[in-house]
Amino acid sequence: MRFGYRDACLRHETGTRHPESSDRLRAIRRRLSRLHEVEYEAGELATREAMERVHNSAYLDEVESFCADGGGTWDADGVGVEATWEAARASAGLSVWAANAALDGAQGGDTPFASGRPPGHHAEPDEAMGFCFLGNAGVAAADALARDDVDRVAVFDWDVHHGNGTQKMFYERGDVHYSSIHERGLFPGTGHVDEPGRGAGQGTTLNIPYQGGCGDREYLAAIDDVLRPGLERHDPDLLIVSAGFDAHEHDPISRMRVSTEGYGAMARRLDDLCDDLDAAIAFVLEGGYGLDALADSVAMVHETMHGRDPLEPDGEANDRARERLDEVRAEHGL
Ligand code: ZN
Repeated sequence: MRFGYRDACLRHETGTRHPESSDRLRAIRRRLSRLHEVEYEAGELATREAMERVHNSAYLDEVESFCADGGGTWDADGVGVEATWEAARASAGLSVWAANAALDGAQGGDTPFASGRPPGHHAEPDEAMGFCFLGNAGVAAADALARDDVDRVAVFDWDVHHGNGTQKMFYERGDVHYSSIHERGLFPGTGHVDEPGRGAGQGTTLNIPYQGGCGDREYLAAIDDVLRPGLERHDPDLLIVSAGFDAHEHDPISRMRVSTEGYGAMARRLDDLCDDLDAAIAFVLEGGYGLDALADSVAMVHETMHGRDPLEPDGEANDRARERLDEVRAEHGL
């Protein structure tokens, strides 16, 4: 794969006890250094124009001056330093690079993966939240839509948390389909089945809140039984995967049970789906706080895009998950 990476993303310092640390990127880089066919691209810092497609101008000014003043504590779990502004713009810029590279034909072993931080999917149009300052996937989705060859984009978010920020950016827009599998009851508490979008965006937000304890079978069933028909209807030109790895069975902050192999199987499903839809695919890093689990899972996605056959789990999704998928299908008429 081609990984988007910039040293600037390391300089967003969060302190020694913060789960969203620069060690996450170091662990990924170290793991990838053992593999073949890993290429890196630095992208560009996100431009003001690109950021303003999804964020309010006054909010951007506020974050920029917060960082220029040395940063500090933004909210209960968000911290920043002077270098955070550049890191956030680098992280968003890597997502923009990934989306454009995919749209320009990068696929298979060249599939782009933006490995930046801070993550993005909790950042709302006018508020930083949940370790996120700029909505990286959202910035990239809106930027892609500015191209003449793009009419519709989809974002699929497999991070264990709901991407409230991405959802909010596009909730009333028909040209961006946002879907998410997340653990019910975790931060930030949004992402219910009956949040389907509004106005022109009616039907283009698709939430699959699962009980803790779900794993590969339940995640793959969600992709096969709900996401696939949903995206066949939306017919996107580009799928951006908001790829957090905190639903991993060895992640310290969730109760989900996705295995390293499971992330490979999901990547394969999504790549096949994009082939069928004639859509480009790009990955954007979100969360993931178990360093080995994170690094191994990113490596698994890389190997899968290079043709490794992921192991398929045996058996069916559990009953509660199947009931939840029935609810989602009913809500969306799928
Ligand atoms: Zn997360």
